[in-house]
Amino acid sequence: AKVYKYIKQFEGEPDRSNFKIIEEELPEIKNGEFLAEATFLSVDPYMKAHPGPVGETMLGTQVAKVIESKNPKFPVGKLIVGGFGWRTHTISNGEEEAFLGKPYTLPDFGDLSPSLALGVLGMPGNTAYFGFLERSKPKSGETVVVSGAAGAVGSIVGQIAKIKGCNVIGIAGSDEKAKWLVNELGFDHCINYKSQNVHEELSKVAPRGVDCYFDNVAGEISDTVLKHMNLSGRVIACGASSQYNNTNTIYGYNQTIIVFQQLSIYGFAINRWLDRWLEGIVQMAEWVKQGKVKYHETVTDGFDNMFEAFANMLNGANVGKAVVKV
Ligand code: NDP
Repeated sequence: AKVYKYIKQFEGEPDRSNFKIIEEELPEIKNGEFLAEATFLSVDPYMKAHPGPVGETMLGTQVAKVIESKNPKFPVGKLIVGGFGWRTHTISNGEEEAFLGKPYTLPDFGDLSPSLALGVLGMPGNTAYFGFLERSKPKSGETVVVSGAAGAVGSIVGQIAKIKGCNVIGIAGSDEKAKWLVNELGFDHCINYKSQNVHEELSKVAPRGVDCYFDNVAGEISDTVLKHMNLSGRVIACGASSQYNNTNTIYGYNQTIIVFQQLSIYGFAINRWLDRWLEGIVQMAEWVKQGKVKYHETVTDGFDNMFEAFANMLNGANVGKAVVKV
């Protein structure tokens, strides 16, 4: 097996020297075990914020194919999703608990790519589904702002908000991303935070204020959005993409606004929703098949390019979900 070890703590932007690729000899599988070969691996922002202990295999989720088995629940040929980390081959007994629970068999996606189990039909899709619907309880006609809008989670949040009849404003980092969100995904507006003044644009496109803010980025963008929140608005604190490469991270919302606008702030963590995992996947798959939810993947070829895929995603090179194809 080829394995990325996380050997030096991140400081600022990730660097190749944070990792070492090693070759690991795997033993024969024992009764109850199986050998899985990675086909797609996920690169996600949380890996930067919580990479796990130094010296260990870099953590992460992958779609893998069972290639040897002495476990009837995971027969040869089955596609599975497992939190095996950044590695090509893994021996598992199917019971190890990773960040997102035990390995599971990929549900039947029909003609759709198995890689979607890492995106719209996996953790990011479920983050959008449970994070937005359960926490913001959106009502038709409300104005929803989503930051990190062209990413794996944000692009799905905005589309679910459209399904629920909301006025949806995205915030993303390029004109191409903004065009994609408005022209292809049906967002009502998208602000390019790199070339436009977010405060001025929000005043124009959300003149009646913001009812719900799905926050993927934190920092300055979120400070600005909060100034536009309506009374009793809801904020879902999902991530802090603007801060992960900083050495001096700035989190926190303006308390005065929270108090006077009587906002509800919900901290969201997807691992709370593992017991309803399939419900989210089944609903997302239905919306995808009906054409109500569209997705895009930014696919990097080759296990040896995991680092590039990861660093590029953190810098915004991805549209939709960033994955690596082995
Ligand atoms: P994305 O696909 O959105 O990728 C990260 C994106 O962050 C980039 O594409 C880039 O887009 C954006 N970004 C980078 N730097 C900045 C910056 N300085 N300011 C604003 N945006 C920036 O990742 P995901 O959709 O997978 O995740 C989105 C967020 O949700 C992350 O913060 C992640 O940690 C969080 N998350 C939280 C979960 C939870 O359980 N709480 C579960 C899953 C994800 P751009 O070009 O627009 O800058």
